[in-house]
Amino acid sequence: MRARPGAPLTIGEFFDGVRAGRLVVQRCASCGELAVPPKAVCPGCQAVVWERVPLVGDGALLSFTVIRVAPRHVAAEAPYIVAIARMSEGVSLLGRMVDMAIDGARVGLPVRFVPPADATADPPVIAFRPRYMRSVR
Ligand SMILES: [Zn+2]
Repeated sequence: MRARPGAPLTIGEFFDGVRAGRLVVQRCASCGELAVPPKAVCPGCQAVVWERVPLVGDGALLSFTVIRVAPRHVAAEAPYIVAIARMSEGVSLLGRMVDMAIDGARVGLPVRFVPPADATADPPVIAFRPRYMRSVR
């Protein structure tokens, strides 16, 4: 279903994009501010008309933590790295580092978005890998 022009992106549309390997966020048609997660009203100028824009998928680690004792449903995946990546367009995304040593994360590490390994997960896990690595998926 096609959203009406100017409508905010829904969280469902955002995660559908993630599943398909795309980071699509919303940009205020008035002031250009990017919003993720999606919002109805622009925090910059209070406008309510949005455009959908793809992110390139490159960013850098802004912060991270190593999860060693995980919730039961993901206990088998521990230890793993949960990270906030500042994307090159300026927005930040929460996700998980993959394909790297558990002690290899550093603030400022260049990262690239990768599609979720499990596209059926709801919501899908936003994942990043160090940008110096070639894709193996
Ligand atoms: Zn705005």
